[in-house]
Amino acid sequence: MRELDEVGELYQEIILDHCKNPRNGKVLEEAQIEARGYNPFCGDEVAIQLKLRDGNVEEVGFQGRGCSISQASGSMLSELLRGKTLEDAERLTEVFRKLMRGEEFTEEELQELGDLSALSGVRKYPIRIKCALLAWTALEEGIERSRSEGG
Ligand code: ZN
Repeated sequence: MRELDEVGELYQEIILDHCKNPRNGKVLEEAQIEARGYNPFCGDEVAIQLKLRDGNVEEVGFQGRGCSISQASGSMLSELLRGKTLEDAERLTEVFRKLMRGEEFTEEELQELGDLSALSGVRKYPIRIKCALLAWTALEEGIERSRSEGG
């Protein structure tokens, strides 16, 4: 996994753990939100399903293949979003994007990202930012689509 040389040793372990043991890999039937993403640069693919109950994310499904950064990010997303609202999901997407772009964020926001903060080293490699953001961008589109469909 050559690309991991780029993120700094401190974080490799967390990222590798998510790659080797992706969380929430089960495909969710009857999900209210479904999203897919594709990154032609390294052929990364992700699929995400969210099952909602009373406005909160009850269950998350994540499947994918591709580079370790894209897959770790998706696995982390699936862990982080459980119990959150869709508004939380959108806000967290923005926070993660700020982290990737090297924009300012608060310590509190960083805490909220949990394991995702391990991907902070990726921002030094612009071409990899797409990998890290793939699952998040896909989810954001999925949420928007479900709203426009009135669902
Ligand atoms: Zn990638």
